[in-house]
Amino acid sequence: MGLEEAIPVDGYMTTQVSRVINWARRSSVWPMPFATACCGIELMATASSRFDLARFGAEVFRFSPRQADLMIVAGRVSVKMMPVLQRIYLQMTEPKWVVSMGACASTGGVFDTYAVVQGVDQFLPVDVYIPGCPPRPEMLIEGVMAIQKIIDEDNIPYDPDGKRLPLGINFQTSDDIVNLSINSTS
Ligand code: SF4
Repeated sequence: MGLEEAIPVDGYMTTQVSRVINWARRSSVWPMPFATACCGIELMATASSRFDLARFGAEVFRFSPRQADLMIVAGRVSVKMMPVLQRIYLQMTEPKWVVSMGACASTGGVFDTYAVVQGVDQFLPVDVYIPGCPPRPEMLIEGVMAIQKIIDEDNIPYDPDGKRLPLGINFQTSDDIVNLSINSTS
């Protein structure tokens, strides 16, 4: 059964351009994987047939930042690596989003050393934080869905200068979004 059976093909639909743009954007998020450690394996599993990120239109992982709009940082990031990560982020298309996947990316995890960045949000505007060591693929899917929800509601926050603000979404468990409110300064 296709759309044609629900809507007459010679009929008309009216809507707002912004709704169509948001629908297209949220239905075709293209991730840029920055996977450096074990969380990267969960990231790969998320795209596999068992979890099937394609159901949410976000399975087209791109390894060229100019073709991607969702950066997923999965794993620890060393201080030496951070300038590379920042450059990749700057090369991505606008509007773009960032997911910090796992304890290492969000806080440095167990690697409390001078060589490991103690939270990528010190250098990147992280939109969604996913806890765990490692987070399960379902949690990453939920993170992507949270971003899609914000896009769909046309709720992307900007500051008065037009600069994109991080969404600041935190997860507690895989089925409990504790903070889906966007940044209070929006
Ligand atoms: S959070 Fe855990 S699973 Fe993820 S990269 Fe760090 S040590 Fe590995």
